[in-house]
Amino acid sequence: MKQVAILGSTGSIGTQTLEVIRNYSEDFCVTALAAGNNIVLLEQQIREFHPSLVAVWKEENAHKLREMTADLNVKIVAGMDGLIEVAAYEASDILVTAIVGMIGIQPTIAAIKAGKDIALANKETLVTAGHIIIPLAEEYRVQILPVDSEHSAIFQCLNGENRKEIDKILLTASGGPFRGKTTEFLANVTVADALKHPNWSMGRKITIDSATMVNKGLEVMEAKWLFGVEMDDVQVVVQPQSVIHSMVQFKDGAVMAELGTPDMKLPIQYALFYPSRKYLPGKRLDFATLTSIEFDVPDLKVFRGLQIAYEVGRAGGSLPTVFNAANEYAVARFLDEKIKFLDIYDIIEDAVHAHKKVENPKVEEILSAEKWTYEYIESRWHI
Ligand code: NDP
Repeated sequence: MKQVAILGSTGSIGTQTLEVIRNYSEDFCVTALAAGNNIVLLEQQIREFHPSLVAVWKEENAHKLREMTADLNVKIVAGMDGLIEVAAYEASDILVTAIVGMIGIQPTIAAIKAGKDIALANKETLVTAGHIIIPLAEEYRVQILPVDSEHSAIFQCLNGENRKEIDKILLTASGGPFRGKTTEFLANVTVADALKHPNWSMGRKITIDSATMVNKGLEVMEAKWLFGVEMDDVQVVVQPQSVIHSMVQFKDGAVMAELGTPDMKLPIQYALFYPSRKYLPGKRLDFATLTSIEFDVPDLKVFRGLQIAYEVGRAGGSLPTVFNAANEYAVARFLDEKIKFLDIYDIIEDAVHAHKKVENPKVEEILSAEKWTYEYIESRWHI
């Protein structure tokens, strides 16, 4: 039986991870959970899956949850120390990092140092600290198993292949709800418009990131670290139906692809059972009705966030952190209807251009680059 801990158990990836575990309850046991504010759902999860350790962000929520679960044998902890305790929990074999944002860096490092395999959804951690996480995982001989659907697809295409024989990675993108639109159109889109993703149902932050295509930029950087390639070895291919989840082109010109219906439970389950495959209920691709698969190139002039991501990914150092932190900040303000859609790009660009790059940043330097970014944006944008 595999012992699983989850950071972000109440979110989109977290709840789908628990669905997979529910379907295969004889194969998995939940050791520890962590979440932010949704203590009502967390209580239900504790009652169903019986973890012995649970973390929430705020101490006041931890206090409430202790009262709500007083009849159960569960230790409730709080804050960053709590997240780290969950991540490195002795009883676990694998940690699913389904938390959103750079807050995942320190718990992921703690889990690796404690020898846990990582099923990684939290791409922001790799984008900002890939140069620390990947060598550390090699040093501690833990596996980083991608949960992001594109990276899982690439990982599946690379099964049994020599990574040195990769020519390029073809990272597919649906193009989001605004594919084919102009900058003039984007100037007035609302939060509700941006939250309507055509194919995937995801958390709010990543859904906005998909609409701006910043998500694809973060994914190119994620692929760079996961598969040891250069930024320019990763080509974004727009494939609006999300049927092809990504592809790898090898040196001899062969292209391998992973296809399927859009369902995040597939990559989650693949990471949890790796290297085995198990039955997953749900729709299958039907090649009798699937008459065509469309392709397009991304419009880097309209979706500027993707272009900036390539620039910061090539430059490296602390710039990806500033890109990511500025995006996290701007997306939160957009969701609060404090700024317009295109302001997200302007804010990212402004912060990236103003930042003095630190090469090879340590964790503390990554966290100070994040802090610098927030302070810079606050001082310039007053939002
Ligand atoms: P959600 O917003 O749906 O969920 C985020 C989770 O993180 C929630 O459980 C939330 O808790 C928890 N959380 C947030 N802040 C804190 C905190 N300070 N302390 C503890 N827990 C916290 O996000 P998603 O599931 O969509 O995304 C998670 C990660 O996976 C992201 O990095 C995203 O980019 C990546 N990803 C997501 C995909 C998807 O399909 N959703 C696809 C591929 C990657 P609470 O809700 O209780 O506050």
